[in-house]
Amino acid sequence: MKLIDTHAHLQFEAYDNDRDEVVKINSKELDVIINVGARIESSKSGVELAQKIPNFYAAVGVHPHHEDEWKTDWIYKLENLAKKPKVVAIGEIGLDNHEYKPLRVLRSNELQGYPKPNLKNQEKILKGQIELARKLSLPILFHCRNAYDELYESIKEYNDLRGLVHCFMGTIDQAKKFLDLGLYISFSGNLTYKGNDYIREAAKSVPLDKILVETDAPYLPPEPHRGTRNEPYRVRLTAEKLAEVKKVSFDKISEITNKNSRDLLNL
Ligand SMILES: [Zn+2]
Ligand SMILES: [Zn+2]
Repeated sequence: MKLIDTHAHLQFEAYDNDRDEVVKINSKELDVIINVGARIESSKSGVELAQKIPNFYAAVGVHPHHEDEWKTDWIYKLENLAKKPKVVAIGEIGLDNHEYKPLRVLRSNELQGYPKPNLKNQEKILKGQIELARKLSLPILFHCRNAYDELYESIKEYNDLRGLVHCFMGTIDQAKKFLDLGLYISFSGNLTYKGNDYIREAAKSVPLDKILVETDAPYLPPEPHRGTRNEPYRVRLTAEKLAEVKKVSFDKISEITNKNSRDLLNL
């Protein structure tokens, strides 16, 4: 059975040199790929890519890294994009309190960094985008790093949220709080990393009918591919690890994560 990658970024610069080939291979290997935006430009290019490839879909949103670039007209731009065919979610949006050191962009060797996190500003643009998702009845792809309790506090007031917390790296208790809000939890390649027993413990605690898999490609390649550019077909390695953690067969994980993805994203 082919898997669904609920979170990839094939429109990102990391694929500029060989995108056609990457798209060809991965669209064949997978049932569905959701290409997720991180700012207006990458949301737009994600939608354009999804419109070209039958089993590609898109999510549009402004990532908390880019809160300093937020302009008042962005919410209108985002709304226009969100109404386009094949857009299935608002994302990725959320809170990120991790201080990123300048990092080398995989392809071009340029140094790229992000400003010091400002959770107050991040929360403002998060809430604007949650309102948009509710207005358009779209599910939300939440991004969160080092701010799970803060994210929970900002979204617990909503009793009608549909969505998932992507690339989950929190504790069992934090997972439970998001599940109680009705959200799904998605696991990425870092589920396979040696030092990440805590993520595997959290995965053990998430019921099968609330669990999803993803790559976050080009980031977070699963073992044994750490340090390379990731691609959606490697979601299989994360699904295999998840099957091991949940003590069920790979077929069962494929079947249930596909069903969960289809239910949540109306695919
Ligand atoms: Zn993310
Ligand atoms: Zn992402």
